[in-house]
Amino acid sequence: MLPEGADPLDVRYNVIQWLHQSTRGWSYGDTIRDPRTGEIIKGHVSLGSLRARQDYLIAEGLLSPYRSGDETPPELARMVLARLRQLAAHEVGHTLGFRHNYYDSTAGRISVMDYPHPLETLIPDGSIDLSDAYAVGIGEWDKVAVRYTYGDFAPGTNAAGARLAILVNAATRDLRVLSDQDPSYNPRVDQWANGTNPAAELRRIMQVRRAALDRFGETAIRRGTPLALMEEALVPVFLHHRYQVEAAASALGGQYYVYSLRGDGEQARRPVPAAEQMAALEALAATLKSSELVVPKRALDMLAPRPVGFDLHRELFPRYTGLPFDPITPGLSAADLTITFVLDPARAARLVSQEAYDPTLPLLGHVIDRLVTAIFEDRPSNPYEAEVNRAVERAFVERLITLAGQAPMPQVRAVATARLRRVAARLRSLTGLSDAHAAHVQLIVADINRFITRPLPAIPPMALPRTPSGAPIGGSATSFLSHDEDWCGVGAPEHRQPFFLPLFSERQPASTSGAR
Ligand SMILES: [Zn+2]
Repeated sequence: MLPEGADPLDVRYNVIQWLHQSTRGWSYGDTIRDPRTGEIIKGHVSLGSLRARQDYLIAEGLLSPYRSGDETPPELARMVLARLRQLAAHEVGHTLGFRHNYYDSTAGRISVMDYPHPLETLIPDGSIDLSDAYAVGIGEWDKVAVRYTYGDFAPGTNAAGARLAILVNAATRDLRVLSDQDPSYNPRVDQWANGTNPAAELRRIMQVRRAALDRFGETAIRRGTPLALMEEALVPVFLHHRYQVEAAASALGGQYYVYSLRGDGEQARRPVPAAEQMAALEALAATLKSSELVVPKRALDMLAPRPVGFDLHRELFPRYTGLPFDPITPGLSAADLTITFVLDPARAARLVSQEAYDPTLPLLGHVIDRLVTAIFEDRPSNPYEAEVNRAVERAFVERLITLAGQAPMPQVRAVATARLRRVAARLRSLTGLSDAHAAHVQLIVADINRFITRPLPAIPPMALPRTPSGAPIGGSATSFLSHDEDWCGVGAPEHRQPFFLPLFSERQPASTSGAR
């Protein structure tokens, strides 16, 4: 507790301040630094209390735990408190100057500076155990980081050499750091993900999700709660695989690397092997099955329109249907996650260009073709699944049109356009369709044709990569990584390339304040 009369902004006090936000939100770990030296002189954590509410929803959706509806199952509070302990340590880590570490180590959960996904255990009887959902205490990497940053050495020790030895020794135990810039193309660096094999983990988490959905019903909410509020608990469980989809997609066109130095003996980079990319693609394709995209009938029959006073809000599924629950959009949202992560323009460009490293790696056309077969050769087993599948087909075509029309890399647009022609040809060859399916197919074919034959007002200047700056020597590279969209624009943002380096720029420590 803050001493009587003390001010939380007083620089003499390190503070953890609870914030009661109106919705769940980020927590922050920030620092006040001596501008002359960079020394951290005060840590200030803002810890969001309503994070607990979202963690309860995750547990309620996974477990559907309320048998009588009046009990307080202890495993929920246990999981929520374990998460809060991890979060508090994480934010304190930021106040000590530490960055995020999302590296998926073979040594397991190595850092509280990760964004952790609950690690559920699926029991053979179909129940889910959350007792190991979050790691306890700080991780092995965190101990390395503290020793490196704050360790003292005996007089006469070569401190720089001793610090380097700490890192070299840590690497032999697969204790490494990769941070905020690295997810999305290194499958060993993921936020909200577990394990070192994203394809296998995606398949595992789809089984957990299936078990949870099979059990999902009114036992997800307490007795006396409006049944419509089951939707709040349905959202996190229905999208339980969302971050693992992102992790699996990072294997496509991805590469393994560490921050290696000349002379350290580490391999700088290597493409994700073809077999691993294909395994990720198969796991992603499995998320597009219409049978995985329908809401369980038991839940559907109870999801009445929301009563007065319980308005729609941003944490619910979108609706085409007005106020009543929309049975199509949950599956559409889930499938669109997979589609958009795979068809990300930068990932598509990596899939085109990985031929440079190894011609046996899958190319963009192969990856699109696999999505096409997953979606257009799906075999719905009932009319509900068929309608969801139509929504997914439509979403896929929309995303492919966007890629074909807007991807910065011309070859990505070329491949995507060629695949659109194939999709249209495939659909034109279908016969004996139901009235609903024929209408759906006709509109897709017409829209693809309209896209391909679109008149352009003028030929826009093609965006080509800018040649790196020549004279004068030097300049800042700060915009390169964080502003992907800038580097190939015709009007290169010269204002991001200061003529002179800012005075003292090398002495100012990089910001490590972080939100999560
Ligand atoms: Zn953070």
